[in-house]
Amino acid sequence: MAPNPSTKENEIKTTDIGTTKNTKFQDQDQDAKFSDSTPIVETLGTDFTFRHKIVWKNVIAYVIFHILGLVGLYMGLTFHANPLTTIFAFFVFLIAGLGITMGVHRYFTHRAYKTTTTMRRVLMLLYVLNGQNSLWEWVRDHRQHHKYSDTDADPHNASRGFFFSHVGWLLSRKHPLVFKYGKDTDMSDLEADSWIMFQKKYFLVLYILIAIFTSLIPVLLWNESLIVSILVVYFARTMIGLNNTWFVNSLAHIYGMRPYDKNILPCESHFVSIVALGEGWHNYHHTFPGDYRASELGVPFNLTTSVIEFCAKQGWIYDFRFNKEETIQRRSERTGDNSHSKYGKLKEFNGTETWWNVWKSPKNPTYSAKDKPCPIRIPSREGHFLVDTDTKVE
Ligand SMILES: [Zn+2]
Ligand SMILES: [Zn+2]
Repeated sequence: MAPNPSTKENEIKTTDIGTTKNTKFQDQDQDAKFSDSTPIVETLGTDFTFRHKIVWKNVIAYVIFHILGLVGLYMGLTFHANPLTTIFAFFVFLIAGLGITMGVHRYFTHRAYKTTTTMRRVLMLLYVLNGQNSLWEWVRDHRQHHKYSDTDADPHNASRGFFFSHVGWLLSRKHPLVFKYGKDTDMSDLEADSWIMFQKKYFLVLYILIAIFTSLIPVLLWNESLIVSILVVYFARTMIGLNNTWFVNSLAHIYGMRPYDKNILPCESHFVSIVALGEGWHNYHHTFPGDYRASELGVPFNLTTSVIEFCAKQGWIYDFRFNKEETIQRRSERTGDNSHSKYGKLKEFNGTETWWNVWKSPKNPTYSAKDKPCPIRIPSREGHFLVDTDTKVE
């Protein structure tokens, strides 16, 4: 059974962040300010006697949405739709997903790197495609999720099980502690950005406009039927994107190994890393939330990191934060569950082994592809290089 998250230690806050040569990160203070692992001031847990009040209109809306999404998926996969429409839907799925992983998650919530203004606007726009509330709300929920993980103050408390953390939290009234602790979440960085506040105010209008726009493209370019296009490009694509994001909150908090911190619920999941474009290395991410890779290694099953590094080479993204290998090793040896392939003591993989955590990796799946870190070389704005911890920069 998973450990009790309320035993989470204050020491989580001491992460060691990499720096570029001669470059001090201005946002290191910001990192402390928006620390995702600020110690919890009072003991929080999960009150299993509490019953969430079901919001039936949300239940009905999500059921209808999923029925239409499944119809769209069937049409897309069985050639009832033009194959170009299915390919286009997949393309929109990918760029919308990057709007979450690369945009609202790693950049806007965790500030794991800096971007040019244009890049920031593009990420904001891609995020709107997903229909996961305004960017401001997503960031608020996610900062709160990191700060009070898997307790009643976490909007999608995984201690309540798979269904609640996957979608149940959206079908019911929030726990009173979510409101109580949510009020303290510092959102001043986003509130200083008028574009973000504009998007917050007019989110629904923007979302409907962008949904119509993407659904019209197959109709205008290759004469797809409007109904088919809406079912495939909007309903099916959005349904899959939503569930992939929800898997990070559910599966990646329940089934998998904990090589970095065995005292928290988040775990390492191959399956989630594939469907959520690299966000399934969740034990690592909750242990070192400021790392732009959201995993120890940059590449295997981490499409988002590859795209970030591509954008860095173009100069659109710079000044990354990541954790040094020594820090990772120290932390793994101190609080990990011994499943780390380099630093753990387990001889065999003997953790939770389920179909969504397969590929039979020996111990920590993060290391399944190669048994050493991939060197990462990214030019920073000033022309210096961020080098992975194997190579010293100083
Ligand atoms: Zn999480
Ligand atoms: Zn996060």
